[in-house]
This record gives sequence, structure tokens and C-alpha cells, in this order.
Amino acid sequence: MSIAENYHALQATIPVDVMLVGISKFHPESAILEAYEAGIRTFGESRVQELVQKQAELPKDIEWHFIGHLQSNKIKTVLPLVTLIQSIDSTHLMDAIEKEAFKQQRPVNGLIQVHIAREETKFGFSIDEAQQFFQSEQFRSLQYLRIIGLMGMATYTEDQSVIRQEFRSLKTLFDEIRQMYFVEENNFNTLSMGMTGDYTLAIEEGSTMVRIGTALFGLRPCAIR
Ligand SMILES: *Cc1c(COP(=O)(O)O)cnc(C)c1O
Repeated sequence: MSIAENYHALQATIPVDVMLVGISKFHPESAILEAYEAGIRTFGESRVQELVQKQAELPKDIEWHFIGHLQSNKIKTVLPLVTLIQSIDSTHLMDAIEKEAFKQQRPVNGLIQVHIAREETKFGFSIDEAQQFFQSEQFRSLQYLRIIGLMGMATYTEDQSVIRQEFRSLKTLFDEIRQMYFVEENNFNTLSMGMTGDYTLAIEEGSTMVRIGTALFGLRPCAIR
């Protein structure tokens, strides 16, 4: 199937109020252009160099999301290129993004990456840490970095009940935070969960944004998840 056909098949399974982000990491610009021509305008990249190159060469009305681990010294490069940083995985990174966004006088939207999977990883807030963050002075002092939601990845497993449970815990956290800290404004509205293998479950559990690579572009040229 072509990328356009993949996209139309996906569209049939994704409600219109759930945003699809095409995860284009490791795929060539020609593939992104095919997806663009089929109608997709938002793509996600996980490596800075790749983002820089693709952003320079592809149509300027594409919105880019950063979805990988971001090193502090790369923030200044990434900031002008993206509309959303989905992978804010520490308070240290948050602080560094706020400072750089102030310096560039360029507000940016961000999601807090919450670690819900059973797999070991160095990256992401635990549910406790995320709750603590919203109680902190650091959260109240943010001006240029706007936290508009949460992002999470479920365990890579065949066991649907595990995945469902993890998505449910993220949705519960999302609702709690929204009710406690964003009552007046409606700008905490993005729950990014669901990839090729689990997006249907994620949508059932309340996702508002799915990040789809393989089901759109096919297998990545190298075996990176
Ligand atoms: C690679 C990646 C995806 C897309 O994964 P697929 O299984 O190919 O859909 C989604 N989210 C993040 C954070 C990724 O790194």
C-alpha cells in the first residue's frame, strides 16, 4: 500500500477529534512529501540533526513536533523549528527550555513525558513526580513554556490489559491535573498516547493525539522503536 492509502486506512479508524502526528524519523524526505500531499501537516522527529535538515527542505506549512530525548544544548536549535515539544522528561530540561524561550522571545508548547511503562528507562516523570511538579513554584513561574498536556508510551507487549491499564493511569493523571490546575483556562488539552501497535486502545482510553510511524510509512530503515 502507498503512504496515501495507509493514511486513508488510518483515518477510517481515528476519530476526527483525535490528532494524527506522522512520525517520520528515519524516513526520507520523499516519504514525508507523499504524506504531505495526502494531507498530513504535522510530523514528529526524534533527532535534532534530522529535524534541522528536513525542516529546511520540506514545505514551510508543516508543523514539526519533537518527540525524542532532547539535550539542553540542542534547545536553541530546536525551538525555532517546532510547534510542540512532546518529550519534556525532566524539570531540568523544562527549566532550560523556559530560559531559552525567554532568550529568543519565542513561546513554545510542551507536553510532560510521563513514564507509565514497565520497561526500564532513564527518561520521563513518574506519576508522583508529575503531580509534584504541578504543585511547585517552577510550574507557576513558567511564562514562555506552556505545558498543554501529557505524553506517554505503554509497555511494548502483546498483553492488551497491561497496555490498557497504563493508558488508563495516564488519562486519570491528565484529568486530575486539568481539574486541579487548569480550571479556568481550557489550555491543558492534549493527551498524546498511542503508536502503531496500540493507538486503538489509546483512543478508547481517551487519547487526543496519536503518534503513528510504521502504520503510515512502513517499517523504518533501521530497527529503532
Ligand atoms: C518512533 C516513535 C513513535 C512511532 O512508533 P510506531 O510504532 O512506528 O508508530 C511514536 N512515539 C515515539 C515517542 C516514538 O519515538
